[in-house]
Amino acid sequence: MDVKAQVSMVFHLDKCIGCHTCSVACKNIWTDRPGAEYMWWNNVETKPGTGYPTRWEDQEHYKGGWRVDEHGGGDRDLELRCQSKADSFLKLFYNPNQPGLQDYYEPWTYTYQDLFDAPQGDDQPTALPVSQITGQPMDIKAGPNWDDDLSGSPIYAENDINLDELTDEERAQMFEIERMSMFYLPRICNHCANPSCVASCPSGALYKRGEDGVVLIDQEKCRGWRACVAACPYKKIYFNWKTGKSEKCILCYPRLETGQAPACFHSCVGRIRYLGVLLYDADRVADAMKVPDRALVESQRSVLLDPHDPEVISAALANGISEGFLEAAQDSPVWDYVMRWKLALPLHIEYRTMPMLFYVPPLLPVLGKGENGVFENTAGGLFGTLDKSRMPIKYMARLFSAGNVDVVNASLRKLLAVRFHKRAQQLGDIPADEVRRVMHEAGLDEEAAEAIYRLTALPTQEDRYVLPPLQREEAVAGTCNPELCKGSCGLGFSQKPKRGA
Ligand code: SF4
Ligand code: SF4
Repeated sequence: MDVKAQVSMVFHLDKCIGCHTCSVACKNIWTDRPGAEYMWWNNVETKPGTGYPTRWEDQEHYKGGWRVDEHGGGDRDLELRCQSKADSFLKLFYNPNQPGLQDYYEPWTYTYQDLFDAPQGDDQPTALPVSQITGQPMDIKAGPNWDDDLSGSPIYAENDINLDELTDEERAQMFEIERMSMFYLPRICNHCANPSCVASCPSGALYKRGEDGVVLIDQEKCRGWRACVAACPYKKIYFNWKTGKSEKCILCYPRLETGQAPACFHSCVGRIRYLGVLLYDADRVADAMKVPDRALVESQRSVLLDPHDPEVISAALANGISEGFLEAAQDSPVWDYVMRWKLALPLHIEYRTMPMLFYVPPLLPVLGKGENGVFENTAGGLFGTLDKSRMPIKYMARLFSAGNVDVVNASLRKLLAVRFHKRAQQLGDIPADEVRRVMHEAGLDEEAAEAIYRLTALPTQEDRYVLPPLQREEAVAGTCNPELCKGSCGLGFSQKPKRGA
């Protein structure tokens, strides 16, 4: 067992209000520079929609992530989709799978000075858009968030690749104006456990930091080949046209090292973001990602290790993981959402990079229109509403469980049961035995339902972010592994916050 610690994340999609504060916070800190204008290390998409860069989920086109290569005798290997060992050299010079400027957008600004300098005349002066790359006036045709809230539009929503498996009838229903629904999907780098970006880099510039699993690019080593841009299926690596190097989300590691949550987490208005340590067995990652699509979610779960298990604890300590990290793993809200309650699911696990950012799928756009308000506990029982959902479960499954409807359903049933439980408790309009039956069907007891409710609706900042100790003092004292840290950890010291304190 090769125990590794990973700073992992959960985004609770029912809580996201699509305000983009997270994107702006990130932009102001990290990508407000020449060459980085078009970069959004954090962006928020509307689903259904085509996203940014356009149709990034279309791996037939972009060829990101891994595919399973079947050999004779039942052997299965993981190969990068974008390049084999043989053609990786050729693709250094021309890679047809790279997104181009047209897939992102041409960044622009406005001639604000004209508002002050325009000569007196009959008309109001205007600030015209000019390209931030060429400086020439431009006719804006697309932007980073062009399809925001346009869930019903034929240009954006209907081109969402995840709708491919819906029947014509399901599609037609989805876009009926009365049934229209949408949700927001905030995205950052997933800091994957099996990152295709790292595997693709010919210069060895990309690496996964040993102590916390953050995936980083060494700017000294990067030669700007952009293999990583093609290889990342989430399109979360960007090429800086000014410096000639690739860049990506760094999970605000300087903030983590000073005891603060990343900026997009800290600024999140909907408080949808949770951060905590997960332990996993690095020896089993590759095999876990070779199983058939439908089994991938369960396979990823099997790699995650229980931080309370004595055997795991001793293997972790033997591997140089500090007691502070173990304590953070035991208190992790991510563990609760992903493993204890099995509510949070990875995005597009079929790309096989083993993403370490998980999403609680949104219940609100799924619920059918009930006679009694939100809940329709009539024929077919409470969970009958899921079958009549406005947003087909097949669509959710395509996003969050590689098409396995049962996995998404299990998560949504629990979310629904928690609401049922709280409604009964607060309004008293549902008989107790009915509540018990629904909870039993969802696989929850009262204690779990209450804990889910508290962590979802009433968490303090300390409940949401359980940061591990990444302080320099520990490296100096020799309690963390300098080999793993590469001497890069630590800017200061801060007490690890205690959950619920
Ligand atoms: S999401 Fe992040 S870690 Fe995963 S492949 Fe893309 S850039 Fe690499
Ligand atoms: S700040 Fe939070 S609520 Fe607002 S868009 Fe970002 S993730 Fe959603």
